[in-house]
Amino acid sequence: MTTPTTAEVHHWGKKPAVVEIDGFRGRLISADHADYDIGRAVWNGAIDRRPRLIARCLGTADVVAAVRFARDHDLEIAIRGGGHSVAGTAVCDDGIVVDLSAMRAVRVDRANRTAWVQGGALWGDVDHETQAHGLATTGGIVSHTGVAGLTLGGGIGWLMRKHGLTVDNLLAVEIVTANGERLRASEDEHPDLFWALRGGGGNFGVVTWFEFRLHSIGPTVLAGPILWDASDAGEVLRFYRDFVREAPDELGTIVKFTTAPPLPVIPEDLHWRPVVMVGTCYAGPIEEGERVLRPLRASRPPLLDLVGPKPYMELQSALDSTVLHGWNYYWKATHLPELRDELIHVIAEHAFSFSSPRSYTAMFHLKGAVSRVATGRTAFANRHASHAIIHHAAWRPGEDFGDRDTAWTRGFFAALGRFREGVYVNFLGGDEAPDRVREAYGDSVYDRLVDVKTKYDPDNVFHHNQNIRPISAG
Ligand SMILES: Cc1cc2nc3c(=O)[nH]c(=O)nc-3n(C[C@H](O)[C@H](O)[C@H](O)COP(=O)(O)OP(=O)(O)OC[C@H]3O[C@@H](n4cnc5c(N)ncnc54)[C@H](O)[C@@H]3O)c2cc1C
Repeated sequence: MTTPTTAEVHHWGKKPAVVEIDGFRGRLISADHADYDIGRAVWNGAIDRRPRLIARCLGTADVVAAVRFARDHDLEIAIRGGGHSVAGTAVCDDGIVVDLSAMRAVRVDRANRTAWVQGGALWGDVDHETQAHGLATTGGIVSHTGVAGLTLGGGIGWLMRKHGLTVDNLLAVEIVTANGERLRASEDEHPDLFWALRGGGGNFGVVTWFEFRLHSIGPTVLAGPILWDASDAGEVLRFYRDFVREAPDELGTIVKFTTAPPLPVIPEDLHWRPVVMVGTCYAGPIEEGERVLRPLRASRPPLLDLVGPKPYMELQSALDSTVLHGWNYYWKATHLPELRDELIHVIAEHAFSFSSPRSYTAMFHLKGAVSRVATGRTAFANRHASHAIIHHAAWRPGEDFGDRDTAWTRGFFAALGRFREGVYVNFLGGDEAPDRVREAYGDSVYDRLVDVKTKYDPDNVFHHNQNIRPISAG
C-alpha cells in the first residue's frame, strides 16, 4: 500500500488546498515550504520562476505518479534533471516541476562496459563511478552539469572525437511518456522514439534511466590548458587551425577566450588577465599525447603551459568554480566551419570585448568520430561543422555587467552571421527565435522529430524545452 504524500498548495484555485499524489513517495514542495526557494533555483541565477509544486521524485514510479497527476489537473510540466539549462526550462511558473535531483544512482557493469545512470545524475556522479574501473563515456566538461539534459541534446565533451557524442554511446533508456506510460527505448524497442531521444531534447517524456557504453580512459590522462596573451589570439588561432586539421581523434581541444581564472594552479600575477587558452585532453597513451601536443606547445612562447598527466576526474571538474550556480548567465551560440583567416579575424576582433571578468567565449573542436556518424542516424544533426562556439555572458548578482555583456554576445553572434552552420540545441538560450530550434536540426531531421513528437506527445505536454511542436498543436 502506498502512503499519499501531502502538501499545502496555496492559491490553488480560489482557496488553499491539500494536494495528494497517489503512489508518490518523494517530497512535495510548495510555496510555503522552507525548501521552496532552493528547490526552484536553477544554475542560471537570472531565472526566477515560481512553480505551484515541486515533485521531488525518488524513482520511476514517482515520475509516473507526478506526470499522471499533472495531466489529471491540467498543470504545466517542467522536467528538472541537473538544472543546468541556461534557458531555465527545468522550472516553470505556476505548474509542476518533475524534479529528478534526488535520482542520481549510477551502476557500472564492468564486464559489459556499460553503465546505468538515473535521470537526475550529474556528470560528476557518472565519472566517479565509472573511473573507479578506469572507464568513462563522453560527458560534459563541468562536473555539476546534468546527465539528462546534456545527453538528450547530443552531448559534446573532451572524448567526443575519439568515442563520439554522448548520444552515440547511448544504448537504451527508460522513459515515462506524456500519458504516464513507462517504456524502454533502444535500437530494438520503440526505435523511432530512441532515434528522437538522441538529440531531440526533453520533448518526448521524462527519462528516468540511461544506459551508456563505456570506454577505457585514464584514470590518468595527458591534459591541461596552454595560455597565451589575448593579443596573440589571431596567431594562435591560425596555428591551431592547421594543427587540429591533422590531429588524431584522441586529441580533444577547446579554445577559450577569457580572463585567466583565479585558480590555485594559475600564478597570481596572471589572474584576470585576458588570455586565449587552448584546453587539451588526450584520450590515449600519455607518451603518444606528449608527441602529438609538442608542436602546439612549441608554436609560440605561452604565458603558462599546464599540460601534464592528471587524473581524468580532475580534468572533468577543473572548470567547476568558473561557472558557479546562482550567477547570472546569457548565451549565444553557433556552429562554425574550419577557421579561415577572415573568420579568425572576426573572432579575434570580438572575443575580448566583454566587460565582466567572468564572461568568456568557448569553442569546442568537433569532427573526428562526431562527423563519421551519418547525418540523420540520430536526431543530433549538423555533424559536419568544425566548431561549436558559445559566447557566455556571466555576472554575479548585484553586478551591472548584464546589459553590456548581453549586447556583447549578440554583437559577436551577429558578426559571425555569414559563417554560421547550424547550432547545438543545448547551447540555445531562452529568448531565441523559434526557427533556431529548426536550425539546430535542419529541415529533414526536424520534420522527422515532429512526426515522433506527434506520435508520443500529441498535446505538447512537454513544451518547457527547445520545443518541437507536434502537428496537432498547430
Ligand atoms: C556550466 C555548463 C557547462 C556545460 N557544458 C556542456 C558540455 O561540456 N557539453 C554539452 O554538451 N553541454 C554542456 N552544457 C549544456 C548542457 O548540455 C545543457 O545546459 C543541458 O540542458 C544540461 O542538462 P541538465 O539536465 O543539467 O538541464 P536541466 O536544466 O535540468 O534540463 C534542461 C532540459 O532538459 C530536459 N530534461 C532534463 N532532464 C530530463 C529528463 N530526465 N528527462 C527528459 N528531459 C529532461 C528538459 O527539457 C529540461 O527543460 C553545459 C551547461 C552549463 C551550464
